[in-house]
Amino acid sequence: MRKDFLSYNPPTIGDDERAEVMDTLQSPWVTTGPKTKAFEGALQEYLQAPSVVALNSCTAGLHVGLLALGVGPGDEVIVPAMTFCATANVVEHVGAKPVLVDVTPDTLTLSPEAVRAAITPRTKVLLPVHYAGHPAQMDELDALAARHGLAIFEDAAHAISTKYKGRMVGSRSNLAAFSFYATKNLTTVEGGCLSGDPALVEKSRIIGHHGMNRDAWKRFDRSGSWYYEVVLPGYKYNMTDVQAAIGLRQLKRLGGFQKRRREVVARYEAGFKDLAALELPVERPWAESSWHLYVIRLKEGALRIDRNAFIDELKNRNIGTSVHYLPVHMHPFYRDKYGYRPEDNPVAADAYARMLSLPLHAGLADEDVDDVIAAVRELVLANPA
Ligand SMILES: *Cc1c(COP(=O)(O)O)cnc(C)c1O
Repeated sequence: MRKDFLSYNPPTIGDDERAEVMDTLQSPWVTTGPKTKAFEGALQEYLQAPSVVALNSCTAGLHVGLLALGVGPGDEVIVPAMTFCATANVVEHVGAKPVLVDVTPDTLTLSPEAVRAAITPRTKVLLPVHYAGHPAQMDELDALAARHGLAIFEDAAHAISTKYKGRMVGSRSNLAAFSFYATKNLTTVEGGCLSGDPALVEKSRIIGHHGMNRDAWKRFDRSGSWYYEVVLPGYKYNMTDVQAAIGLRQLKRLGGFQKRRREVVARYEAGFKDLAALELPVERPWAESSWHLYVIRLKEGALRIDRNAFIDELKNRNIGTSVHYLPVHMHPFYRDKYGYRPEDNPVAADAYARMLSLPLHAGLADEDVDDVIAAVRELVLANPA
């Protein structure tokens, strides 16, 4: 058994990031300024995006993006049940109704069939999540959106570097929100960005910066002016140059991070493929996953211990895991407000009961991965039903 506890998802921050942060702290401008601009430019190039605004979180991006799309009271937004609570919370923030629908069994992304059944005359936006880094079925969702005149807004929190049919998530003209939270594939400690059509992104930038019609930092450099006007009562969602400093260096390292993630995934795959009790994550032929999470499911009736006991036993063996996610329709707020029962989204509810996320990050050594494989194998083989 391993001696020290293996954390399931620590950030990979190194000397490069520390040096860039120090450079910012020693400069005359520490909040939204030249480094944030540079990070936005680098992201735009990486994502091949029409336009990008950096913000202080993905949640902020989802919030201002919905406002920029004009979503409000009386509107419905279709959200997958299998996601982090923020995807639905932001819909509540703008006074609209999140309609929580089921996911596709293999990828746990938004089910186009479930979406079709949930569309009403009040539906305004489809909000797919690229769950665990696997892209949602965009062609099918695009067809539904076109037929019903809906906007698409991608929750790309897991999806930096994800490709759908060879094309980078974030490169489309619809809005997409990315997260740079501490556990994500690229981190700025806290942070996020919004990509998409320049007019929508610019509107989102203004809403996320007090409703001010020009960049604050330009007011203080030589080319700027002291004058600005407030065009709406906006929010305070800007990214700081300290965060952008981390992001600039993380983005340079992202290719290496992603290569390592794929190596770890291949090692897990080889280590588990003979275990019939496990359902392993898949990558559809048209998909290139960012592999944000490695989510396994225990097959129904295959083991005499359940998911919770499995997690406890791994913890006893010094392996950290997590669960992504308790479906949104099963959280008390959404359950009670809208009267959901778990079985209203049966695929999400069933997946939740059987799932756990194994350690996956760019800093894992082969020996760490082998420790996880050994502990999982030992548990599976010692507990047949
Ligand atoms: C992490 C996450 C968010 C929120 O990101 P923040 O940057 O922490 O606001 C939103 N949606 C999903 C699916 C996430 O995993």
